[in-house]
Amino acid sequence: MEDVTSQDGERPQRGSASPSAPVLAIVVPCYNEAPVLPRTLSLLLDELELLRNEGSIDACSRLLLVDDGSTDGTWRLIADAAARDGRIMGVSLSRNSGFQNALMAGLMEARAFCDACISIDADGQDDERAMGAMVEAFSRGAQVVYGVRSSRQADGVLKRVTAQGFYRFMAAMGAKTVYNHADYRLLSRRVLDELSGFGEANLYLRGLIPLLGFPSATVSYERRRRMAGESHYSWPAMAALALDGITSLTVKPIHLIAMGGAALSLLSFVGVIWAVVVSISGHAVPGWASLVCIICLIGGLQLFALGLIGEYVGRIYLEVKKRPRYIVERRVGRAPSRRVTPD
Ligand code: UDP
Ligand code: MG
Repeated sequence: MEDVTSQDGERPQRGSASPSAPVLAIVVPCYNEAPVLPRTLSLLLDELELLRNEGSIDACSRLLLVDDGSTDGTWRLIADAAARDGRIMGVSLSRNSGFQNALMAGLMEARAFCDACISIDADGQDDERAMGAMVEAFSRGAQVVYGVRSSRQADGVLKRVTAQGFYRFMAAMGAKTVYNHADYRLLSRRVLDELSGFGEANLYLRGLIPLLGFPSATVSYERRRRMAGESHYSWPAMAALALDGITSLTVKPIHLIAMGGAALSLLSFVGVIWAVVVSISGHAVPGWASLVCIICLIGGLQLFALGLIGEYVGRIYLEVKKRPRYIVERRVGRAPSRRVTPD
C-alpha cells in the first residue's frame, strides 16, 4: 500500500486538464441529516468544481446523495438541490436500511456511470480537501484509496481507546482492516464491478474492500467534528457494527472458544483425578463456596460460547434468505452517459 500524502489536506500540484480525466461520483449516504446537509452540499460542490477546474476530473462528475429512509425532510432537500443543480443526483431508499446498505446502494448506482467514486459521510467530519490526493493516487494506478485519520482528536477518550482496541482485536483475529480508516475512500469502477458480486446480507465494507485486493494507497486527513446534528451511532449501535465486522470477516472466535472448551475439559479431568486421590487419602474437601464459584464460571463461559455461536447461526439464517439489502424507491437528477474506457 502506498501512502500518498504525508501532510493532511495537501493538494497535489497539477497541470492542465487531461482529456482522460475520470468521471467521479461522490457518494453520500444521508440519514436524517437535514440540519447539516445544506453546508455539506456546498462544501462538496465547491470541491467538485475545484477538481474539475484543475482538470483532475471530468465535467460530467456527479454528487450522488442516498436518502436512507430519513424522516426529517432530508429527501426534500436532496430533491430540491437536484432540481436546481445538474451535478446533483439523488436516490431514496424505501426505508432505513442502515449505513452500510445505504452506502452500497450509492456505490451500485454510481457504478452505472462513473470511472471512480468517493464515499464520504454527510456530516462534514471527513475532510473533502483530501479528495484531490485520492484522485491523484487513482490516476497513478491505485484502484482503492483509503482515507485514513491522522489523529482522533475529534473523538472522546473512550471512543479512541475502544476504536484502537477494536482494530487490534480484528488484527489478532486475522481479519484485514485498514487502521483508522472508516468509509471515506475512493474505489475504481473495476473494484465496484467486483464488489457487486458480493451479495452478503451482513455487509461490512471496511473489511470487505481490503479482501478484494487490487493496488491500493492511503491518504491521511484530519477528521473534524460533526458540523451539525447528532451521530447515529450510540454505544450499542457501535457494538452491533463491531460484531457485524467480526462475524462477517472471521470465524476465529469460534475456534478460540472450541480451544478454550478443550483446555477447560482437560483441566477438569485433572481436577477429577485430584479429587479422587484426595478422597481416597481421607482428606475430603469441605468448601462449597469455591464449588459454586467454579460452576457459575463454567456456566457463564458456556452461555457466552453458545451466544457467540448463536450470533453466527443467526447471520447464516439471514444470508440464506438472500433478501435484497435495500430497495430504491425514487431517483432524481440525471446520470451522465457511461463512457467506454479500456480496462
Ligand atoms: N447513515 C445512514 N444510515 C443510517 C445511519 C447513518 O445512511 O442508518 C449515514 C449518516 O447520515 C452519515 C454516515 O452514515 O452520513 C455516518 O453516520 P454518523 O455520522 O452518524 O456516524 P459516526 O460518524 O458518528 O460514526
Ligand atoms: Mg459522522
